[in-house]
Amino acid sequence: MKDLDIKNRIEKLRKEISRLQFEYYTKDSPSVEDEVYDSLTKELKSLEDKYPKYKDPNSILNRITGKPLKKFKKVKHEVRLLSLGNVFSIDELKSWEKRNLKILDKEKIQEYFCELKFDGLAVSLIYENGKLIRGATRGDGEIGEDITENLKTIESIPLILKSPFPDKIEVRGEAIMRKKVLEDLNKNNLKEGKPLFANSRNAAAGSLRQLDPRLAKERHLDFIAYEVSQISDNWKTQISKHSSKHELLLKLGFQVDKNILKTSNIDDISVFINKIQSIRESLPFGIDGVVVNINDTKTYELLGVTGKDPRGVIAYKYPAEKATTIVTDITVNVGRTGVLTPLAHFKPTLVAGSTISKATLHNMDQIDRLGIRIGDTVVIQKAGDVIPEVVEVLAKMRTGKEKKFKMPTKCPVCNFEVEKRDTLHKQNSSNTSVAYYCTNKNCPAKNRRGMQHFVNIFEIYTVGPKILDRLKDEGLISDVADLFTLEVSDLSGLERFGVKSADNIISSISSHKRVPLWRFLYALGILHVGEQTAQDISNHFGSLDRIMNAKKEDIMTIENIGPIVASSIEEYFSRKENLSFIKKLFHNGVNLEKENKISNNQKKFLGQTFVLTGTLSSMSRDEAKRKIIDLGGKVSSSVSKNTSYLVAGNEPGSKYTEAIKLNIKILDESSFLALLL
Ligand code: NAD
Repeated sequence: MKDLDIKNRIEKLRKEISRLQFEYYTKDSPSVEDEVYDSLTKELKSLEDKYPKYKDPNSILNRITGKPLKKFKKVKHEVRLLSLGNVFSIDELKSWEKRNLKILDKEKIQEYFCELKFDGLAVSLIYENGKLIRGATRGDGEIGEDITENLKTIESIPLILKSPFPDKIEVRGEAIMRKKVLEDLNKNNLKEGKPLFANSRNAAAGSLRQLDPRLAKERHLDFIAYEVSQISDNWKTQISKHSSKHELLLKLGFQVDKNILKTSNIDDISVFINKIQSIRESLPFGIDGVVVNINDTKTYELLGVTGKDPRGVIAYKYPAEKATTIVTDITVNVGRTGVLTPLAHFKPTLVAGSTISKATLHNMDQIDRLGIRIGDTVVIQKAGDVIPEVVEVLAKMRTGKEKKFKMPTKCPVCNFEVEKRDTLHKQNSSNTSVAYYCTNKNCPAKNRRGMQHFVNIFEIYTVGPKILDRLKDEGLISDVADLFTLEVSDLSGLERFGVKSADNIISSISSHKRVPLWRFLYALGILHVGEQTAQDISNHFGSLDRIMNAKKEDIMTIENIGPIVASSIEEYFSRKENLSFIKKLFHNGVNLEKENKISNNQKKFLGQTFVLTGTLSSMSRDEAKRKIIDLGGKVSSSVSKNTSYLVAGNEPGSKYTEAIKLNIKILDESSFLALLL
């Protein structure tokens, strides 16, 4: 990005984030999901870190922006209510530990205390002489709203503490709405035509920030305590650890959650995080992560605060299934039927553990429905077992430089005219949608057999005809050259594809990018060019450049190559679409083994002719042929006095008796394998 673009992007992000913060914290009515908001703030943070000259000392990232509503009495917090820093992976958690150890100049943190990160509203409760005297929201951290009367309606908030209690204590925790209550509330709202709550946090916040406490009471909120932020001096020894705060809170009559872990080890924390993730759905309340506290209060306080977050505690957030990114391009692939499918390319972005760099846009209707343009900031989704998709365009992030996409009028593979046709909708046959087709009957993109031949010759055995069809139908590839640009995340979401099989396919494609010249030539599928001819041509010309520039007459000088074959080769290399296909292959990473790298040993079959008969148990006949040719030998289909060896597998045919008659050397499978070594 250019300097000015970076500055503009940062400004755009700040403006949009601040608008979203207002919607969320002040109006309790967010228009985007938290994952989208988190993704935008993550981008802003990484841009501010990368370009410090644009850093704002008052960055919105360092502010707690919950403005108190005018309708409530304001309260100044005696101890500031802070936020929590976030990490999204165990590696980031380890870096957090490393940073703290450096500040503390220590080798190890003695103990961590892990608990759930409840998805609700932070609340501060002050008790004097055992009685609740004030309850407040976090607000901007310094000034909150006095919502005492509303909080008194929550049954799990004790109005009087159990004895013995300190003269004064400030308790913090989360006001939450249980899932079942939210579900019933939304059902009711739906019936009454009222807006639905996006999540339990907003429902809890919306309920507590009502002037009429009767309304709050109807919402059946709950309170889970997790922190003691101040206490009378003579009780301080009782809160020397975060875990002892929990024990005290329980004794005083608060509800604390029992899903906790004490450990000194990040690996144990990782196991705990996974365990909680596996029960997350079944928990009666919403959570959005795990909070990891340094258990020892003194160490925690020693670490202090950075921006709005204490250093001694961090929130591990579960990987988001949605993230924002920028559309860098929209290209078009051509399917088996010639249908043109648009494919969006993104700035690579991590979603649910995979890096996503492209997603199909299916058709023009989908592009129109989303209103997507090149340069747009979009929300992409990658839920566990479905392919990545664009779910939304963030139109407010536009700069005016975005470009509308137009379907090409010429096929991107063969340059033939493209035709617009009405097609019946897959799901609803009474609806039609518009599709664009390449009009060339012989468009290479429609040539399934040619593609299968190519992958076989490149020995990419994990890609069979069904997979090729699938990739084309999904609009992920037009031709085999596109195979070399695929990533695991492109496949792992396709139905019946796990991450493991996607991994297998991608690693087999990338480990077969390098082939000898003759195999490359053979894979192109030039009419009349079989493996032997490809080998003869490669041996004769020695380089692809020379082959591509050879005239029919030059080609005909090769033994056994006649005018028909020579014309076919010359014609193939004279066609523009073939030249651009070859260029694309190299551009996507295909490369040729250098002839001079092939040692004499590798050419040990030079001048020898093999004939194959029967079935080999260790390889197919095609593989055996390729191995012989790779070593410089020739393969013939019939036995003659010029045959050097007959390779005889199981149940050999008449060639076997012929070879005996002509006194030709016969190799069984194991002698043949030994010869290959
Ligand atoms: P946060 O919610 O990520 O973390 C701090 C809060 O965690 C505390 O205030 C407390 O309320 C809560 N918490 C829950 N369990 C806790 C525990 N066991 N220990 C300590 N604290 C616990 O930070 P934040 O600054 O309050 O808000 C950021 C969140 O708000 C993000 O999740 C963000 O996605 C969301 N948000 C969303 C939008 C939107 O438009 N959707 C806009 C702004 C913010």
